[in-house]
Amino acid sequence: MANDKQTTQHAAHSIDMTPQEFRTLGYQAVDRVTDLLENMRNLPVAAPEGQRLLVDREMPVVGTSPAQLIDDAANLLFNHSTFNGHPRFWGYITSSATPMGALGDLLAAAVNANVGSAQLGPIASEIEQQTIRWIADLIGYPGTEGILLSGGNMANMCALWAARRNKVGEHIRKEGIAAEKKLRVYASREVHTWLEKATDLSGLGTTAIRYIPTDEQGRLDTQRLREQIVRDLQDGDRPFMVVGTAGTVSTGAIDPLSKIAAMCQEFDLWFHIDGAYGALAAMLPEYETILRQGMRDADSIAIDPHKWLYAPLEAGCLLVRETSHLKEAFSFHPSYYRFEDNHRNALPNYYEYGPQNSRGFRALKIWLALQHIGRTGYTSLLRENISLARILYAEIAAHPALQACSYNLSIATCRYIPAGLVPGDEQTEAYLNELNEALLKKIQNGGEFFISNAVIDRRFVLRACIVNFRTTLEDVRAFPDTVARYGAALDTQMRPKHLSNR
Ligand SMILES: *Cc1c(COP(=O)(O)O)cnc(C)c1O
Repeated sequence: MANDKQTTQHAAHSIDMTPQEFRTLGYQAVDRVTDLLENMRNLPVAAPEGQRLLVDREMPVVGTSPAQLIDDAANLLFNHSTFNGHPRFWGYITSSATPMGALGDLLAAAVNANVGSAQLGPIASEIEQQTIRWIADLIGYPGTEGILLSGGNMANMCALWAARRNKVGEHIRKEGIAAEKKLRVYASREVHTWLEKATDLSGLGTTAIRYIPTDEQGRLDTQRLREQIVRDLQDGDRPFMVVGTAGTVSTGAIDPLSKIAAMCQEFDLWFHIDGAYGALAAMLPEYETILRQGMRDADSIAIDPHKWLYAPLEAGCLLVRETSHLKEAFSFHPSYYRFEDNHRNALPNYYEYGPQNSRGFRALKIWLALQHIGRTGYTSLLRENISLARILYAEIAAHPALQACSYNLSIATCRYIPAGLVPGDEQTEAYLNELNEALLKKIQNGGEFFISNAVIDRRFVLRACIVNFRTTLEDVRAFPDTVARYGAALDTQMRPKHLSNR
């Protein structure tokens, strides 16, 4: 009897599902997701910092009812998440996600193609290649090949590995960097932290990075870049790569890409553009001169579909000018793979294009949304985000308690300055930094808006980055008063005596 019961229980939760079971559970999950999407605006954008929820939960010894599990997971996720799809989520550079992408991920997971090789994922490889070409076409980049990766960090790192192989030489793959002169890579001080990880993990060490000063707009100073390259060459170092950023993570500044491109030409350096955030703005005619033109000459560009194409995480993309550049940097041919023999309509075997071996089907969610929304649709979505950020900046500038600090692309920054305080002297600035840092925490925990911060000229500023197709004008207009309200309450608690009567 005991044995029978065990068998029944096991059968009830067999790893595979009957068609009827899958259909019922699928509808259940989709119903829950539909409710979430419908109600998201009314939920707190972020759950306040709280207790851990799963400490008492142990791995079940026998299986659990799948219907119960889906409800349990939905309850946990819908009640305790930071919703980057919420109309008032403007933190970091994290976008709202297309519902089309969620459905795409379901399809992709069901087929479970391994997009490491064209044999294992024939249609998936073709879709990935087409997605990459469409992205290149959207921004007017002449290269047609690339690879999808987990995000901007991996796309940028792969560019560094491709640059090292291409500019230093084939031998680097075998001999490593030990026998090399000191390799040098150049980027502005505002470059994203991926470069630290990449130089560290590549064995170059972070001192390989030459941080070039920026102008008052946060853009790389090309005169200082030239001086540094010349100095390093005189010292016997080996410059190999310059990174230009198209939309810095703090303020959205765009480096002078055309000038950098010319300098890379002159010194025979790899020109990489980190456009994880901003490169997609090149689809707008108003960015022709500052983005699109300079991007044409890049050897590689990193772009995040999970930022301004609103793809669900994870989706980064690396584009290269020459098809061979990725294969040369990443391909090995072990005896247990015979993929080359298959020649599947000359489709890429993507395991040769990057560091991954088995690869998931990241392209589908992007490919579907590109077709669903279309070029014109994407153009107006980006333009709308940019316009909302500009309006936000103007509303901030018009508010008596807020100082507008910077605006670029879809990023506006500001800080709260209580009435009676005049910024500038050291003590006041120190207090303003402390106050605005506390204010950020208050706002993040308040559940009304989610923003992050930047540090500009040692000033701690609040930063809103709108990469969100749900944000409306009303959301933007509600922001300044909310910040001022939280700010005034904090100032009453925090202001030190010596700053009180001015
Ligand atoms: C977001 C971002 C990155 C990192 O991308 P992930 O997708 O978070 O890995 C790198 N550079 C820039 C400019 C970015 O905006």
